[in-house]
Amino acid sequence: MGEIRKVTVLGAGVLGSQIAFQSAYKGYEVTSYDISDEALAGARERFAGLAETYKREVPGATEQTVREAHERITLTTDLNGSVATADLVIEAVPEILSLKEEIYQKIGAAAPEATIFATNSSTLLPSDLKESTGRPDRFLALHFANQVWRFNTAEIMGTPDTDPAVFATVVEFATAIGMVPIELHKEKAGYVLNSLLVPFLASAAELAAGGYADPEAVDNTWKIATGAPIGPFQMYDIIGLATPYNIMAGGDADQQKLAVWLKENYIDKGKLGLASGEGFYKYS
Ligand code: NAD
Repeated sequence: MGEIRKVTVLGAGVLGSQIAFQSAYKGYEVTSYDISDEALAGARERFAGLAETYKREVPGATEQTVREAHERITLTTDLNGSVATADLVIEAVPEILSLKEEIYQKIGAAAPEATIFATNSSTLLPSDLKESTGRPDRFLALHFANQVWRFNTAEIMGTPDTDPAVFATVVEFATAIGMVPIELHKEKAGYVLNSLLVPFLASAAELAAGGYADPEAVDNTWKIATGAPIGPFQMYDIIGLATPYNIMAGGDADQQKLAVWLKENYIDKGKLGLASGEGFYKYS
């Protein structure tokens, strides 16, 4: 299996910009594609913000290492050109099946046969997308967590068609960019992390929304009894309440009730979590 040298990241939004920057920081030549000059202007701002964050938060990051990372990223709105010499394409475009299918059809025709495609999709299975790639054997999911430089898991999940050598190459790449590769042996909606986290957060909401215990009491129980550093409601605040709300709103009747509780008591009052200064807790 050939080595990965050139990486193309499709979509330079929240996650795409982080994946591109982290790959460049670890020495890869990266092409960052987005749809318009306006989107690229947003990407430039995100890369500049990431450069500052890395200097503050990544041990050993200096003015020079961060500048060099920045210099290894080429921005483009030319989709075909962006994949023409890529060894690995990581797709981080919006979570809309038809949009992703369309982009895979285009790059499937434009990229060299050897190029590996990976989706960062959080909720779609790679099997949902594999046919559109035209190369199911060279396609899999490579799923990052928000704030890749801190929360450095990379969940890797193929389909029954994924060539094991391709899987192994992507595991190696994830390690090379400083991630801890989490290998899934079969497809699972939610991968490992969200398979654990989504029901856990919903159970916590059930306790508080049902009037059984206050959020602080739930968090204290979890922390004291298990030794965990934070409780579920502190996690809600860090994640931001909008994402769990969206997941619950799309769930069954019980989940939808919890979504309404989150919305009426917190989201509608501007309590969106840590980033807004208040969620279940107040932050200064
Ligand atoms: P985002 O909305 O921040 O970014 C998406 C980017 O894609 C935008 O810059 C947009 O301009 C661009 N885009 C729109 N249409 C496009 C097209 N046709 N072709 C190429 N680019 C296009 O979204 P995000 O949060 O970065 O999520 C992207 C993917 O990553 C989704 O599949 C999501 O499930 C996944 N993901 C997100 C998170 C998260 O915490 N945000 C975590 C893990 C995985």
